[in-house]
Amino acid sequence: MTFKELEIIDPILRSLKEKGYTQPTPIQEQSIPILLSGKDLLGCAQTGTGKTAAFSIPILQNIYLHSAENFSKRRSKPRIKGLIVTPTRELAIQIGESLTDYGRYTGIRNTVIFGGVKQGPQTQILQRGVDILVATPGRLLDLMSQGFISLSNLEYFVLDEADRMLDMGFIHDVRKIIAQLPAKRQSLFFSATMSAEIVKLSRKILGGNPGKVTIQPEQSTAERVAQQVYFVDKKSKPKLLVHLMEQNPEDSTLVFSRTKHGADRIVKILGKAGIKAMAIHGNKSQGARQKALGTFKTGETSVLVATDIAARGIDVSGLERVINYDLPNIPETYVHRIGRTGRANAEGTALSFCDMEEKPYLNDIQKLIRQQIPVVQEHLFLPTMENLLGKEVVEVPERVGKPAGNRKKNGRKYYPKNHRNGKSGGSRS
Ligand code: AMP
Repeated sequence: MTFKELEIIDPILRSLKEKGYTQPTPIQEQSIPILLSGKDLLGCAQTGTGKTAAFSIPILQNIYLHSAENFSKRRSKPRIKGLIVTPTRELAIQIGESLTDYGRYTGIRNTVIFGGVKQGPQTQILQRGVDILVATPGRLLDLMSQGFISLSNLEYFVLDEADRMLDMGFIHDVRKIIAQLPAKRQSLFFSATMSAEIVKLSRKILGGNPGKVTIQPEQSTAERVAQQVYFVDKKSKPKLLVHLMEQNPEDSTLVFSRTKHGADRIVKILGKAGIKAMAIHGNKSQGARQKALGTFKTGETSVLVATDIAARGIDVSGLERVINYDLPNIPETYVHRIGRTGRANAEGTALSFCDMEEKPYLNDIQKLIRQQIPVVQEHLFLPTMENLLGKEVVEVPERVGKPAGNRKKNGRKYYPKNHRNGKSGGSRS
């Protein structure tokens, strides 16, 4: 499915192309047709699924197509046609940025209002007029009561992150806002969870027969796949990979590399160890990619090495193992990678190599998936002292090193760089 097939208009297609969105995400694929048809929507999904674009794109398109306004030659002051209410300032800002990005070539104006800052700059923009307003509940009610905001022309209303809204104690504010909306409107309601209270609230907002979309959060992939991380030196990664492949030679394995050259290098490393592998990445011809994929699917090669982009479109069922030779710097990429195994509730394993420089990436990933990934102690590949100490280590000649009892056989001993004449008391081994 493409955005064109979803009947997105050219000015929006152009901006999506610039954003690098090649394919709609599942929530976009399902929600956009419902919303373009004018129906209300009940969406069970959370941030990270592409939810913002799923509601922003059709709202922009509906306003662009169905409003009498000629957006390129505006004659009158814009009136608020779309309102998106979201619980936090950060989300509001993100949604505003997305609307600006996706609507870049439509001429549709948006602004964002939230509390905790002076209202002057916000009211100035409101007085010039906007088509879409993104707001947190408190500031919205404030500015409505001061007469800066009129919702009488409103046609599209989104309540975003409804469950968080309730958790944060915004229910009364939300009720007050709903009471002031015109009855004739298209309403969208999003929540990551659907408790009885949430369903009750959704009924107050949505019309009789809303379209329904439920998207499993990406995180559930992380719960389904058995994950492990190996702390390893960059230079020991080849040995570790060969070792793991020799342990379980039968497992069909997809190895991810951040770069194309890295992918080729991995194929060579495996080849030297007598393990047949093939790479797919952007520098390979279509024919070479098909061949690699074909031999992998038939089991002729048990290892496929891929970059993230090349792996996106491939369908390999029954994949037993994903190995992250490099950790991705974008945490969502990790979830996409490991999602290649353990599909359709099948069990899969995802092993990640993490060197010292990649530790921050691992932290970001663990935050996203809300899990600590178990660490495997593989003694063969323990990190060097340099990594353990977290600082550069220099070799200190024997005459400086004390006490003598600890010396290595070759008469040399390792100390951290800041070691001074054996007095610093720094870590030694
Ligand atoms: P959201 O769930 O709206 O917070 O979106 C999560 C991330 O996915 C954001 O960084 C979006 O820019 C990105 N995104 C949304 N839709 C697409 C798409 N169709 N293709 C690629 N990235 C997307």
